[in-house]
Amino acid sequence: MNDVKCTIIQDLLPLYVDKVCSSDSAELVKNHLQSCTECKKIYDEMTADLEGELPCPEVDGKKAFQSLRTNLLWITVALAVMVGCFVANIGGAWMGGPANIGQFIATILYIIFWGVFTIMTRKYGVLVKVSFILSLLTFIGAFNSLVMRLLSEGWILAALISAFASVPFYGLRLLMDWTALYAVATVISIVWLIYAGMNLRKHQKSLKK
Ligand SMILES: [Zn+2]
Repeated sequence: MNDVKCTIIQDLLPLYVDKVCSSDSAELVKNHLQSCTECKKIYDEMTADLEGELPCPEVDGKKAFQSLRTNLLWITVALAVMVGCFVANIGGAWMGGPANIGQFIATILYIIFWGVFTIMTRKYGVLVKVSFILSLLTFIGAFNSLVMRLLSEGWILAALISAFASVPFYGLRLLMDWTALYAVATVISIVWLIYAGMNLRKHQKSLKK
């Protein structure tokens, strides 16, 4: 491919230097530069200019802004879902009786939302931590409550901790008693915790690289 015209290569050079051309064009330019001293000289001049510059703050700022906007959007929706679910379910969870269909739907939407959240945001550091912490709290709440139910015991903090499981999962009281509900919540939160924990580890590894 050494018969490509130098003018074409020189047209492509700015794109190649900025790494915004297609991989085919990049390959073409790369091969040409190996055999053409004239174009190589122009390329060297262009990259020498770049090295004098600091990393482009405009691009970095834009990226940071986009990632901040993504984080804020997800966190806002997550808060709305949590508030909505808690408003729908807290009264029922407090009274302890069977749930109605609306509360059941709130619970299902809550579970679906956090599944989507955890999968979709697995590459965003802050959000990975959010889903990991919430999955951990949910697991502690559900598992602690399940143990308390099985032992017929209770302690003062248990009610507080269990709120992370008893309120969002309360809708399941449409179908089952509290012991079964906490067992289901424990299983769901273990799966969630493992997945969120793996995402967190992957993310921390990628930071070290
Ligand atoms: Zn050339």
